[in-house]
Amino acid sequence: MELSQRILSIPPSATLTMNAKAQELKQKGENIISLAVGEPDFSPPEHVKEALITAVNDNCFQYLPVPGLPALREAGANYFYRFYQVQPEPQEIMFSNGGKQVLYNLFQVLLNPGEEVLIPAPYWVSYPPMVQLAGGVPKIIPTYLEDNFELSIETLKNSLTENTKILILNSPSNPTGVNYSQEKLTSLAQFALDKGLFVISDEVYDQLVYPPSQPASLARLWQNHKDKIAIVNALSKSFALTGLRVGFVLTAAPIIKAMTKLQSQSCSNICSVAQKAAIAALTGDFSFLEGERQKLKQRRDLTLEFLKDLGLKTPRPDGAFYVFPEVKKYFNSHLTNSTALCTYLLERAKIATVPGIAFGDDNCIRISYAVPTSVLEDALQRLKTALNEL
Ligand code: GLU
Repeated sequence: MELSQRILSIPPSATLTMNAKAQELKQKGENIISLAVGEPDFSPPEHVKEALITAVNDNCFQYLPVPGLPALREAGANYFYRFYQVQPEPQEIMFSNGGKQVLYNLFQVLLNPGEEVLIPAPYWVSYPPMVQLAGGVPKIIPTYLEDNFELSIETLKNSLTENTKILILNSPSNPTGVNYSQEKLTSLAQFALDKGLFVISDEVYDQLVYPPSQPASLARLWQNHKDKIAIVNALSKSFALTGLRVGFVLTAAPIIKAMTKLQSQSCSNICSVAQKAAIAALTGDFSFLEGERQKLKQRRDLTLEFLKDLGLKTPRPDGAFYVFPEVKKYFNSHLTNSTALCTYLLERAKIATVPGIAFGDDNCIRISYAVPTSVLEDALQRLKTALNEL
């Protein structure tokens, strides 16, 4: 059977592929440490797990409204009031299977063939294939390590063409951990809006920002540009619910309606019991995150210390749980790029990381530090030893 051009034109997700490879090697008995996939190591709060168990015991297994239960959409709307003092209507919110499906749906309902999406590099691996699958054209635009990988208005301006439709911003960033200031994020979005673009703000790591840095959001700007901004969030990272697949979006009601129509023809509602757990998460206590942030911050600092000792340049990771060091000084005639270096690290040091090329920068690698501190220490020591052998 001949497969479609559509599917043949995209690669598999590099993050998930690397994680699968690490798991496979582990199962074969190899002592692998995976710093590959972005997955918190803490447990979701008890009240969220209890809500899930109660939903199971209540036989909550039926079809539910495609965009989510009314109480869930209300809880999603209230999230933006709680953290950003913006009160949307529930019909301006919908739930999909993770931030990933929210983004997929958005591109599907917004893009016509040939329309361009500006994607600042380094970018999360799945943006370009999702744009392609929607018939759009991913237009990768550069940012520079010297500028902390932050997009400049100048670059944005120079990247516009008559086909540009969307700009995607992601703060804190996967893979760099860079967190924009509120002022910078707003000014980039405002510039894009002035040029007639739609702005997607991927804010899935907004709860994982390390003081003194503060989370930034386009929620306030959205109030005056409802059909020109979409804000993407999820419970995967903040509530350590990666496998439950709960993502949500804030945008204008007609766009939500279009995404609901699409989702009604693809997967319907998100898992029924997951919706109940998500209501408990979004309406409950967020204070557990204080301790998780502190732990993650310590691990980040530990990682940065190791990288500094190795003389590796890295952008300032004020959020998420990734660092993205520039490793090109280790390239040689055998290890010519980030993929070769990650393969070396996997084979020699038994640590899984993700090649920077998957994020649009072949000079770097991505390290996730969301693993227990003792495991991280072991992994960083292995990294150091293996790199010093080069
Ligand atoms: N977003 C996480 C990561 O970048 C999870 C895997 C994925 O969907 O890419 O590692």
